[in-house]
Amino acid sequence: MRIPTDLRTRFLRHYQSLPHLSHSSSLTHNLLKPLLPLISSTKTSYENLPNNDRIKRFEGGRYFGAGRWFDASCYVFNGILIDTSPSSCYPHLPTSDFEQILLTHHHEDHSGSLGPFLPTHQIYMSQKTLDIMSMSRGKFDMQFYEHLLYGEPLEFKLNEDSNVNIIEDGGYLPTWNSDGREVEGYVYTTPGHSEDMLVYHVPSENAVFAGDLYLNENRFFFRSDECYTSILSSIDKILDLPDWDILLCAHEPIFEGGRDKLKKKREYLERIGDNIIRLHNAGLSDIEISRSVFPRASGMWYLWVICGGDVSPVNIVRSVLYGPVERDSIKRALNDNGENIENR
Ligand SMILES: [Zn+2]
Repeated sequence: MRIPTDLRTRFLRHYQSLPHLSHSSSLTHNLLKPLLPLISSTKTSYENLPNNDRIKRFEGGRYFGAGRWFDASCYVFNGILIDTSPSSCYPHLPTSDFEQILLTHHHEDHSGSLGPFLPTHQIYMSQKTLDIMSMSRGKFDMQFYEHLLYGEPLEFKLNEDSNVNIIEDGGYLPTWNSDGREVEGYVYTTPGHSEDMLVYHVPSENAVFAGDLYLNENRFFFRSDECYTSILSSIDKILDLPDWDILLCAHEPIFEGGRDKLKKKREYLERIGDNIIRLHNAGLSDIEISRSVFPRASGMWYLWVICGGDVSPVNIVRSVLYGPVERDSIKRALNDNGENIENR
């Protein structure tokens, strides 16, 4: 069936103003579960960084047919795994290389494979991550596209054998290299992309393990719950740290010149923030501002189709002007501060 051209043009022009369809629920997952193995596959790799043979990168990609839709990396350094990849990568993780796990934040592509390691590994995360992960045993409020891209997280069920350690802002998390020497590592809270995010800094390796702090330089969409002002403060906090230039994020790691890249991202965010406020003060609507500031996004109608508005350029405009829209379940988990949690 051919879609009439004028209808298509109208959709392309206006998709940014379509409503945000929140279609989280296990119903989505249950409908998709039997289909996912038929339409998607996972490929992984595990190798040293190009410029550092003490840090290894595990990369998992999700393929639909021949096309890679999504990939996420986690890292192994001195026996600690930083993030765990989505659940589809779990069978491929290099389990003999780590005994400890640090989770940068709760998103499914970072935490999806964590559950089975609870009784056997020392696990580090923030209190906020634990509160969110504990909610519904890690199967929290996922949207349709998250089911599609990441698959359902493996069950996260705390019990008396679980070794979960809460780590605070500025917390010391050392590792030991092969000759027994202690290697300094520090954890810093960096909210914005998600409220619970952490970054791990290892000065002797000139590296930060940065979760989703960077993502890419000129990003023109946000999740609806991303906080623009907190992202700027968190970037500043990491830029203020000495002794790092390798920026090890989950999606676009930078093996050299990471500090400059993060500075450029900060400048970009500041520039678009100023533009958004200027256009808002000139009387433009949020949608008009989005079209003006992010013209590249006008052809990306499929973002709305796939993500139901949860990931879109308009979310940047709204985050700059009014702040983020927290997901109800996350708000509940953090406000209850761990009280109404099914696991406990
Ligand atoms: Zn994330």
